Amino acid sequence: MKACDEALPGLIDVYDRDNLNTFVSLYFDGRDEHFIAHREKVIQCLLTPDELKNFVKTMETIQAYLKKNKPGNYAIFASDKNNFFKALSFPVTVKNSLSVDVSPYIHQIAELADEWQAYTLVLLNSNHAKIFSFSCGELSTQDALSADIMNKHKKGGMSQARFQRLRKGSIHAFLTEVVEALQKIAQENIILAGPGETKKQFRGMLPIQLQKGVIAEVDVSIDDTCGLVDETKEIIREKSKERHRQLLDIIKSEILKNGLAVYGVKETLAAVRNGQVEALLVEKDVKQKGWVCESCHLLGTGIVSQCPSCGKNISEVDIIEELVKLAERTGAIVGFSQDELLQKIGPVVGLLRFK
Ligand SMILES: [Zn+2]
Repeated sequence: MKACDEALPGLIDVYDRDNLNTFVSLYFDGRDEHFIAHREKVIQCLLTPDELKNFVKTMETIQAYLKKNKPGNYAIFASDKNNFFKALSFPVTVKNSLSVDVSPYIHQIAELADEWQAYTLVLLNSNHAKIFSFSCGELSTQDALSADIMNKHKKGGMSQARFQRLRKGSIHAFLTEVVEALQKIAQENIILAGPGETKKQFRGMLPIQLQKGVIAEVDVSIDDTCGLVDETKEIIREKSKERHRQLLDIIKSEILKNGLAVYGVKETLAAVRNGQVEALLVEKDVKQKGWVCESCHLLGTGIVSQCPSCGKNISEVDIIEELVKLAERTGAIVGFSQDELLQKIGPVVGLLRFK
């Protein structure tokens, strides 16, 4: 329930088939009590009678859920008419937002999923190992293994060489066990932590694919892991920034040689629609006015009074939100960045699969 990247697939294809504004999306930090009432009031004034009926019922369900659960950061997507309800909680602060539209607003979830990629922490020494899985910045599962390894002092009668050989063998056997356990749960975003050389030995024992998945090593005593989780979170956030910088560098060079890149909202929108975009980079916290045709679902930027294609009514939308949703649907990687370069050439740029 907490993994933001797992929540996306269940949200991107959902919409009201009668084109009514029936999907309520609430992002709520659990603090500002007036915020919901304030938004509710204005939304109620703007809906059609049918939409209003649905909105009131949907908000009742949402309020009941909030009352039942402890205060926290939530994203709730619900539509009484469509019998739809999905609630997610986050360990990080969400930006308050209440909206109603023909489909859920996923922009913020996509941003959280991008910033808080799932990762695995392996904390180990020569006879203890713990494997923690984090998703959305929060611990989701944990697994502990231990082995009875001979301590460093040999017992009488055994030669030093023989003792060392046996000890090494049992450490190797234990680490093999940990490798097998890790293999079952993680392929990438692995952080190794622990004291001394054991984690180096462990890393060397990993299959090549998993070795590539190790993104950091942290030196820490296994008994004093205070601050370790915060440190790993920081590593993940840094990795995410680094990924964006690398992507932006590739896009930059593609733009310069007029290659496989696209920029500008209108152009990027067209490329995403064509399924050309492999990776989309969006400037954080940016919204832009656009429209969607209520009849043929054509999307566009700027302001028009009717659909230029079929002449039917249009609704105003945040074109960036629509762009993100469309990109997620086409399986593109979607990242959010505050990089200065993106601010100059953005608010969206894309790396193309083909041209
Ligand atoms: Zn149209």
